[in-house]
Amino acid sequence: MTEHDQLRQLLELQAADSELMAKEGERLEIEQARDLVEARERAKLREESVQALHDRQARLTREVAWAEKEAAELKRKYGELERRLYDGKIANPKELEQMRLKSEQMKQELSTVDDGALAAMEELESLKPAIEAEERELAAARVALADREREHGARKTEIEAALASLPARRQTLAATIEPALLAEYERIRVRRGGVAATTLIKGICGGCRVTVPPMLVSKARQGLPVKCESCGRILCWIE
Ligand SMILES: [Zn+2]
Repeated sequence: MTEHDQLRQLLELQAADSELMAKEGERLEIEQARDLVEARERAKLREESVQALHDRQARLTREVAWAEKEAAELKRKYGELERRLYDGKIANPKELEQMRLKSEQMKQELSTVDDGALAAMEELESLKPAIEAEERELAAARVALADREREHGARKTEIEAALASLPARRQTLAATIEPALLAEYERIRVRRGGVAATTLIKGICGGCRVTVPPMLVSKARQGLPVKCESCGRILCWIE
């Protein structure tokens, strides 16, 4: 293997390492994906809201049922009282007066119960469209959440597949590079944000975009390991 081939292999190794780094970053991003967390939160809030509306609906329905029963009972008692009041069997004026008062009181009670039932029925009516609207929002939030989960799931699978195959590719490439060059590559990688080998195209360093002096370009052209004077990365001359 010529010197130049060695540098080409080093560039390949750099590509594998960069990909590995990128995929690891993506994996971390997915684990903490804000959109997924938020979509979950939104769906949960809608669920709670729909539940609260249903609870209110159930409570009102019970209220209406109770009021109807109560009203029927009051009407029955009221009718009985009125019958006794006017059937002429009771002659005592004091007793009649008391019954009249009682009858008046019942009428009031009945009116209160009826008003309560009416208010509950009106609220029940207005709840229907509110529940429908909230259920539509909940359905939409669930679809959005499923979309996020599917999207992240597919990306995660793809990333994990790449992360599973990349180390072997890296190993194979690293084995073809001379130990001294490989060791230097690793040293620079630590210092230079994971990028130690870069291209030299038209006299420009691919790592820092600085123009490399002609003398160094000429060396690199011969396949000699040359480092950029500006960023210190190993340059691989590319025609
Ligand atoms: Zn440079």
